[in-house]
Amino acid sequence: MEIILKNCSCILTQDAKRSTLSNRDILISDGKIAEIGQNLSRSGYVIDCKNKLAMPGLINTHNHLAMTLFKGYGDDMPLDKWLKEKIWPAEQKLNAEAVYNGTMLAFAEMIRSGTTTFNDMYFFSESIVDATINAGMRGFASYPTIDHNNPEKTDSEIRNVKSFLSYLASKNTGLVKPMVAPHAPYTCSRELLERSKELALKHNIGLHIHVSETVKEVNDSIRDKDMRPVEYLESIGFLGPEVIMAHSCHFSKEEIVLAAKRGAKISHNPTSNMKLAGGSMQLKEFLDAGILVSLGTDGSASNNSLDMFNEMKVCALLHKFSNNNPEIASAQQVFDIATRGGAKVLGLEKDIGAIEIDKQADIVLINLKDISMIPNHNPISNIVYSANGSCVDTTIVNGKILMENRILKTIDEEEVTDKVNEFASTLV
Ligand SMILES: [Zn+2]
Repeated sequence: MEIILKNCSCILTQDAKRSTLSNRDILISDGKIAEIGQNLSRSGYVIDCKNKLAMPGLINTHNHLAMTLFKGYGDDMPLDKWLKEKIWPAEQKLNAEAVYNGTMLAFAEMIRSGTTTFNDMYFFSESIVDATINAGMRGFASYPTIDHNNPEKTDSEIRNVKSFLSYLASKNTGLVKPMVAPHAPYTCSRELLERSKELALKHNIGLHIHVSETVKEVNDSIRDKDMRPVEYLESIGFLGPEVIMAHSCHFSKEEIVLAAKRGAKISHNPTSNMKLAGGSMQLKEFLDAGILVSLGTDGSASNNSLDMFNEMKVCALLHKFSNNNPEIASAQQVFDIATRGGAKVLGLEKDIGAIEIDKQADIVLINLKDISMIPNHNPISNIVYSANGSCVDTTIVNGKILMENRILKTIDEEEVTDKVNEFASTLV
């Protein structure tokens, strides 16, 4: 199907030159951006884009989507206590249906707030694949492995990963791709990390892992292994360009050099880190070292939102404030991290992250009549500092309209919210 985004008032292309176009049409054909120009007249479905701004869909590179089920269930606690006393016991009640509905709720929130690509790790991963296909989202799903140094668990976790990879392969979809996701260096044995790496290399897919989220994690690693977490991962040959490290709040200078040398990539999760008071990733130092950085919300239990507009603002403010320097993390730089940066970290820079001919049509239309966008001195400033997800009018993924005029097209919101509330009532 062809779609014409007719007469867009503004297009933030996010191409290499960061070109901004005015009063242009975008022709979408077979899921791709086929043409950008004036007076493109074809017979496709027409969306009037007067007073609309077109931008690339936002890319959220660290999620536990179905944790929407635990939003507001345990707040104001340190990570260790929060996981042990609230989250891990609540997760015992999960089942495939609950994860499917929690993931659909996450997609409803993401589509409403302009996110088009995600990178998830969560249990009942088959349900996440099903939800992604039904919602029409683009993303990466993975089964998170944890063995707590129990060799029997190591074997069963690797079997679970292989079974998930076969399930996803059987779906024959290009929209959802797999990663291998050992949870963290402190919850996985050396053998589990090594076998995860082998699997990732064998299938030519990414490795998604939490690293150095808290000072406690780093201190425990020094106590138990005589190495900091990144040094440990390097010592077992884990680091490489296929690795995406979430959080990465407490890297030494040497660890930043190691990550850069190995081409490992980062998902920065500022809101979650601030809420759990885990610490702050050193954005400037990572970028100066040439490390690819992207932005992620983490799960709804520790954010408690999946709105990437909020995440961009928090990212900018955190680094300005903590460096006592308003010039760090400019609006353009943060917008880059949430679009082009996410695409690069996920290895999809040829496909998404910019509005350019032949790229996949993952496009978000912003309502320029929204109060947050007025006046329009600088649209990128408005997007990062003033707007939130409610200014998104239309969300398109792979050339398919997932929301138009703020009406979701692929998700029955009432059904999903009823089912999520039903599950939530079993937690208390
Ligand atoms: Zn996480």
